[in-house]
Amino acid sequence: MVSTPIGNLADITYRAVHILKNVDLIAAEDTRTSSVLLKHYQITTPMRSYHSYNLKRETPRLIALLQEGQSVALISDAGTPGISDPGFHLARACIDAGIRIVPIPGPSAFVTALVASGLPSHRFVFEGFLPQKKGRKTRIEQLGQEERTIVLYESPHRVQKTVAQLLKALGDRQVVMARELTKKFEDFFRGTLSELAAHLQTKAVKGEIVLIVEGLSKRKKKDEVK
Ligand code: SAM
Repeated sequence: MVSTPIGNLADITYRAVHILKNVDLIAAEDTRTSSVLLKHYQITTPMRSYHSYNLKRETPRLIALLQEGQSVALISDAGTPGISDPGFHLARACIDAGIRIVPIPGPSAFVTALVASGLPSHRFVFEGFLPQKKGRKTRIEQLGQEERTIVLYESPHRVQKTVAQLLKALGDRQVVMARELTKKFEDFFRGTLSELAAHLQTKAVKGEIVLIVEGLSKRKKKDEVK
């Protein structure tokens, strides 16, 4: 499982490049997206798609290749495979089949955003993407009681709705919206949920987004009980 950049192509380890050059096959989510990276580092290893829409068919195929003794590197469109992408399914299948997994560490959007957020990072909860429909309201309500810093992935099309729902359910907490990390238009919005909601109403945002929300303070929790 090989971590690759989340934007800036220079954010890859020597070890990752070496492995991608030397394995028999690279399994990538969107092969067009990953071909930019491979071209940049002159990696000519054959690639095939391992995506949420073909993982039922592709998982046993990759397991069969690994069992034949071939080496396969799994990469995702960005960052660390297995974090909010299909990587988990292949890891599970490898463990079930007794195949050794070698993780090659590197960037992940949630850690990159969290460390620059200025919100407490000694305890945090990574929620990935919120459910789009079923279970969404319950999950947001549960987050209302979460004392640790909350880290979420979001798309630019849904961020306005999500921020409005978080404001309603959690109250006006501190929030950071980290956008386009490591890329040309990297941007951090720091403020409260109501300030972010107002900002999003004036301007449609583009690009990839991580939201980091302050956890419930113990003092506020006590006040709620009273
Ligand atoms: N495996 C990836 C990782 O390790 O971070 C995450 C994959 S997930 C399908 C894609 C989501 O990650 C995006 O919708 C966005 O929320 C977040 N993301 C990825 N790259 C980002 C970046 N450069 N800046 C901000 N968020 C990013």
